[in-house]
Amino acid sequence: MSNCDVIIVGTGPGGATVARELARRGKKVVMVEWGPGGPVRGSIGQYVSELLVPGKSLLITHGLLSMVRGITAGGSSMFYYGTCFPVPLDMLKSYGVDIRDEVEEARRELPIAPLKDEMFTPMARRIQEGARQAGFKWDRLEKFMYQDRWKPGMPFGYYGDRNAVKWSARMYVDEAVSLGAVLVDRAKVRRVIVENGKATGVEYRSAGRSCTISAPVVVVAAGGIGTPVILRNSGIQEAGFDFFFDPLVTVAGTMGDVKTGNAEIPMSAGTLLEEEGYMMTDLPLSRLTHFLFTGQVLRLHRLLSFRSTARIMIKARDALGGRITDRGGVRKHLSQEDRDKLHHGCQNATKILRAAGAKDIYPTWTFAAHPGGTVKIGQLVDSTLKTRVDNLYVCDCSVIPEAWGLPPTLTIIGLGKYLARHLSGEKGRLPPPETATRQP
Ligand SMILES: Cc1cc2nc3c(=O)[nH]c(=O)nc-3n(C[C@H](O)[C@H](O)[C@H](O)COP(=O)(O)OP(=O)(O)OC[C@H]3O[C@@H](n4cnc5c(N)ncnc54)[C@H](O)[C@@H]3O)c2cc1C
Repeated sequence: MSNCDVIIVGTGPGGATVARELARRGKKVVMVEWGPGGPVRGSIGQYVSELLVPGKSLLITHGLLSMVRGITAGGSSMFYYGTCFPVPLDMLKSYGVDIRDEVEEARRELPIAPLKDEMFTPMARRIQEGARQAGFKWDRLEKFMYQDRWKPGMPFGYYGDRNAVKWSARMYVDEAVSLGAVLVDRAKVRRVIVENGKATGVEYRSAGRSCTISAPVVVVAAGGIGTPVILRNSGIQEAGFDFFFDPLVTVAGTMGDVKTGNAEIPMSAGTLLEEEGYMMTDLPLSRLTHFLFTGQVLRLHRLLSFRSTARIMIKARDALGGRITDRGGVRKHLSQEDRDKLHHGCQNATKILRAAGAKDIYPTWTFAAHPGGTVKIGQLVDSTLKTRVDNLYVCDCSVIPEAWGLPPTLTIIGLGKYLARHLSGEKGRLPPPETATRQP
């Protein structure tokens, strides 16, 4: 570790992609990860300990909106729903960040495709029929899934996918390690060490001890919440303000003649209502999450009707606002406009479920997902993803400069490839510096 070229903090889609790309180019990489890097068991115990620990992976705002993030090697992608949405190429390009080639490369390498017929289940089909009957364009969505590894009845991997059908950033972490990168897990980074305006390493805590590692380049990729906390501790106090968190609500109903189960694949089809500012998809849940969502709105008589529940998710593009606290708490209220979008979505989801034949339809609590925009391109990082501190870069959901309301994994992977190319000196395609500071 004493000779490493680059330290990468965090191993979600952002950090893992940079690590894998740099390791493939022969760089000596050290990944420092707060969560554990052990095997994926796909158990409820692992799920709870890596995604649902209050104050660590489960964060609750003052308005009682809860938000989860995976604190584990692979980050939130260990528990995500594996849906691939288009990348906001034009928006990023207007800030001097052109990742078109990187996204195409990622598309060639990753298993991205709509579900094949056998994986598109009767419940998802019924919701699709209801949506089309109610007048919505409701198409299959692209998924990050190795569909050739899938077998009928295989659980989706809500609690982590031990069958490795769902792509996760852990696969890139493993690949980086196989190419010589080092993973230091269970190590929480507190700050980047800055000397004479240059990043020279990181300070982290592991097993109750404070440790440091040095390297000429540091990439912080601790996610939309973790990254601003580390940057503030490193002297960049403006990080962590005016962010988005893509609020969501689900609408559930009881279906008499179609059953669901742990093998149901979430977000297999849906629609994007761009002008209205929200999207809708089918959203079957794990048994545990069904229990939590249903209990939260006191539909106690529905707690045990997991198998007959049809569910639609509405996810909105929210206005930027709020702040991350110095300890990583989330402070943000939904605006009236955001609430109106979710309300409108609930009305449409109710129409769809009715058309699909569901009864006893009700909305659940509002949640938040995908926190980002806390270290925006054009404000706190330039078009090479560099902060004002020399040799200190950021590469995760934090850098996305505007809210666009869609799940961002492919975008983050594209940014990871882009940064790796820059750090490897393949700079030919980067824009001139004057386009690097556009304000939103
Ligand atoms: C339930 C769920 C479903 C989702 N479904 C989808 C989907 O279908 N499609 C999609 O595109 N997106 C989906 N997402 C969102 C997607 O998973 C995230 O947007 C993505 O993982 C963000 O990547 P990231 O690299 O920015 O951060 P993260 O994945 O959050 O990774 C950050 C990493 O940093 C580590 N870390 C944090 N703080 C520190 C620290 N101080 N020191 C060291 N390490 C630290 C964390 O442990 C983690 O490994 C979903 C998310 C959830 C929670």
